[in-house]
Amino acid sequence: MAKNTKIKKIIIGNWKMNPQDSIKAKEIFTSIRKTARTLTKIKTVICPPFVYISELRKLVNTDRIAVGAQNAFYENEGSYTGEVSPSILKNCGVAHIIIGHSERRAKGETNEIVNKKVLKVIGEKMTVVLCIGEKERDHAGEYLNFLKAQIKESLNGISKKELNNIIIAYEPVWAIGKSDKEAPQPADIYEMTIYIRKVLSDMFGSDVASMVPVLYGGSVTSKISLGILKDGKVDGLLIGRQSLDPQDFSITLKQANDL
Ligand code: PEP
Repeated sequence: MAKNTKIKKIIIGNWKMNPQDSIKAKEIFTSIRKTARTLTKIKTVICPPFVYISELRKLVNTDRIAVGAQNAFYENEGSYTGEVSPSILKNCGVAHIIIGHSERRAKGETNEIVNKKVLKVIGEKMTVVLCIGEKERDHAGEYLNFLKAQIKESLNGISKKELNNIIIAYEPVWAIGKSDKEAPQPADIYEMTIYIRKVLSDMFGSDVASMVPVLYGGSVTSKISLGILKDGKVDGLLIGRQSLDPQDFSITLKQANDL
């Protein structure tokens, strides 16, 4: 991947709508930070519910861990009740925003809406963690066209230079929220990263496409993370449930650092 040669992997935790109070959020974050701050080759980004962002930011005392966001709106300000904008998040110290998570797409977020969000986040010079992933696999390989359309439509209007601020998270929907036994095999994940890079290369050229970090997400635990990082040859992981379990998550962080 990356421009920063020291940082080899990025591990992103998506806390979704957890935990239930800020005391617990701070406890989990502090525990993860203890490990993350010692690891020189990876960057850890924790994406909590919006309401915890400012408090967790106060606990950041190293650039090896950051607080990101799980979503943002496609306008920066105005009469949009309940929305949170990229510029507001930027002012709270956020640099990474997950866009197009499958749980949001399932609630009606189309590629067109995702694209508007991507453009707004990029406009703020923040980093987009763009989630893509098929709902199911079919023998005819139609899911590959589905993924291609997600990438093309979500990144519509992005320049080569702006691609620097894009991270792709490949998260097959069928593997999210399951047991780690149901996650795809590392060789499968590797093939998917090759396919994703091919689509990016056709859009932007191979020179810039090869620089885009491609992460994997879907039922990762410490039992399978090393294999995915090593043989899946991904640039990092987007982790849901495990990122709320500091002990198991820290094992994955160390694996990523020791590669
Ligand atoms: C996710 O929701 O992005 C995710 C990867 O979840 P989990 O790790 O719990 O499958």
